[in-house]
Amino acid sequence: SDIGSQRERVVTEEEWIQKWEMGNIGFHKEQRHPLLQKYLDVLLNGRSGLRIFFPLCGKAVEMKWLADMGHSVVGVEVSEQAVKDFFSEHSLPYCEEPVSEISGAKVFQSTSGNISLYCCSIYDLSSLIVGKFDAVWDRGALVAVNPCDRQRYASLMISLMEKNSSYLLVTVSYDPNKHKGPPFYVPESEVKSLFG
Ligand code: SAH
Repeated sequence: SDIGSQRERVVTEEEWIQKWEMGNIGFHKEQRHPLLQKYLDVLLNGRSGLRIFFPLCGKAVEMKWLADMGHSVVGVEVSEQAVKDFFSEHSLPYCEEPVSEISGAKVFQSTSGNISLYCCSIYDLSSLIVGKFDAVWDRGALVAVNPCDRQRYASLMISLMEKNSSYLLVTVSYDPNKHKGPPFYVPESEVKSLFG
């Protein structure tokens, strides 16, 4: 379970914002993720009207899909372009306002009210600001977090979860000495030690 030289690698928030500006977003998929469709029942567990969190959301199309099912979706994304693209690509009217608790942060909310995307670093959030969630869809999120920040990320995610919440995590498996990432390789042993 060695992650090789990836342990030291850091991608800054500026670099992510630049990736969006350059259109260097190969991670974005137009199709819904097959594993979310496959495990949707596990995520929902018979419940309706859930609060579902998308950490490091990009412009993930699954946010619209789950909102259309009647859930309320909250995402966080450091790139304002990604957030605006999400709403415009789905023709969703939105309003934007500052987040009083976080300097420089904005929240973009669909006019229908069931999609709220925070434009800031995930590390600025807390349950006091965004509340707690019944479900989490983590695709391209833990694997995009800098390896040195994984513990902080996992602790934050745990603090944002309701008692009976469910968490679907997608990771990738490959030889970490062959690619520098992201996505980073997160061994299963590490997932277990991060989330218990
Ligand atoms: N989950 C999305 C996007 C994955 S790529 C999907 O499945 O398509 C990772 C995203 O995280 C990028 O859009 C990047 O801009 C964003 N990001 C990186 N670091 C972040 C941070 N600290 N806080 C919030 N967003 C961040």
